Amino acid sequence: MAEKITPRATDYSQWYIDIVINAKLADYAPVKGCMVIRPRGYALWERIQQGLDGLFKETGHVNAYFPLLIPESFIKKEAEHVEGFSPELAVVTYAGGEKLEEPLVIRPTSETIIWSMYKKWIQSYRDLPLLINQWCNVLRWEKRTRLFLRTTEFLWQEGHTAHATSAEAEEETLRMLGVYKKFAEEYMAVPVLAGVKSDSEKFAGAVRTYCIEAMMQDRKALQAGTSHFLGQNFAKAFDVTFQTKDKTLDFVWASSWGASTRLIGALIMAHSDDKGLVLPPRLAPIEVVIVPIFKNETKDAVLAFAKTLRDSLVPGLRVYLDDDDQSTPGWKFAEYEVQGIPLRVEIGPRDMEKNQICAVRRDTGEKSFLPVADAAPRLRAMLDDMQASLFQRALKFRNENTFQAKDMAGLAALLDNPGGFVEAGWCGSAACEAKVKEETKATIRLLPLEKKDTTGCACLVCGAPAKDIAVFARAY
Ligand SMILES: [Zn+2]
Repeated sequence: MAEKITPRATDYSQWYIDIVINAKLADYAPVKGCMVIRPRGYALWERIQQGLDGLFKETGHVNAYFPLLIPESFIKKEAEHVEGFSPELAVVTYAGGEKLEEPLVIRPTSETIIWSMYKKWIQSYRDLPLLINQWCNVLRWEKRTRLFLRTTEFLWQEGHTAHATSAEAEEETLRMLGVYKKFAEEYMAVPVLAGVKSDSEKFAGAVRTYCIEAMMQDRKALQAGTSHFLGQNFAKAFDVTFQTKDKTLDFVWASSWGASTRLIGALIMAHSDDKGLVLPPRLAPIEVVIVPIFKNETKDAVLAFAKTLRDSLVPGLRVYLDDDDQSTPGWKFAEYEVQGIPLRVEIGPRDMEKNQICAVRRDTGEKSFLPVADAAPRLRAMLDDMQASLFQRALKFRNENTFQAKDMAGLAALLDNPGGFVEAGWCGSAACEAKVKEETKATIRLLPLEKKDTTGCACLVCGAPAKDIAVFARAY
């Protein structure tokens, strides 16, 4: 199995594709730009959904579902929104055997259809806040496919909240950014920077876009979630007003926030190695695989021992016992390394005699012999340790690959070798930002939430006093 995976050092992007295909996470669909999420990839998405959904509910959100088809006129109501999304829209013009009176857009995101409904549902401050999330698919036309990272159709969640004041809407926007950061770091074991996008990178129709950005192993950035403060833009476009406590009329304030199946791409690229997928235990659909090692004469005894072990572990761990006798243990070891199962437990006749098991960590390859009586808590502890050490390893990597530059030449040199995040002064002008992008292909990933001191710091392009220390990187 493993020889099918191109080493990272040889060709990083081929390595990524090899992992996705060999670990059977996804496949190319008949329609260009689309992907099929295979059962193993979908199981991973289900773990991500459960984790995020739990965090959304803890913060007071409820789920609902809005239609896939949006009247074209809705999309056109918010000027920046339509301008931003137009090039990516797919439009249904013909259905039921006839040309439609009004074309219907396949949702690229649901602000417009949701705010058309909020107009019906919101009349008074008593109806606020409205905290709704939906899990669904969206479609944004893509010419190039990169499984999980860039596909025409993808799965995601989109939260759409309505508030009585600007401050409450912005507080919600930041709360959800915090939820994404927590999820990335505590579930995905991926450290992220949190900050605000420059105007050129913000969501079409937002006042401000906040984001979390992660560093992949090729030192490129990947945006792992966005949270938008929408001001009153969509309320004005859809005429959503409410009666305030002082009996005046005001437009409703809004936030929206989303994370998608891209997170699977981030997980793969943050942790995996040349043998295959490496998954943080918290999100792994299977945490422990038991591989019994036997010959014909020891088969029954070893399998019985393995089944007893599995049954004792099941209450607290996600365990799979591979009792198939057609493939060799060596083949299975390689296969489970490709699949990224965090712990492999080997049991042979000699282990059985000693009443022990051999546990092998996927990330380090480290072997531990554990007494059977103690197996459950010891395996749990190993998984917790692996979760923590994947995060620490990724954090160390990011820290080692974060640099500072004073000018364009310095930035360009660092981006070429070794690559990474580069902090540099920025005057705030779109022209300077565009020049960086044109000359280095790097963008401002974010302006950190915790603003750094810019005293004496100049813009890396024009030399004017810096307004912010921006984080530049090449990105997915
Ligand atoms: Zn400048």
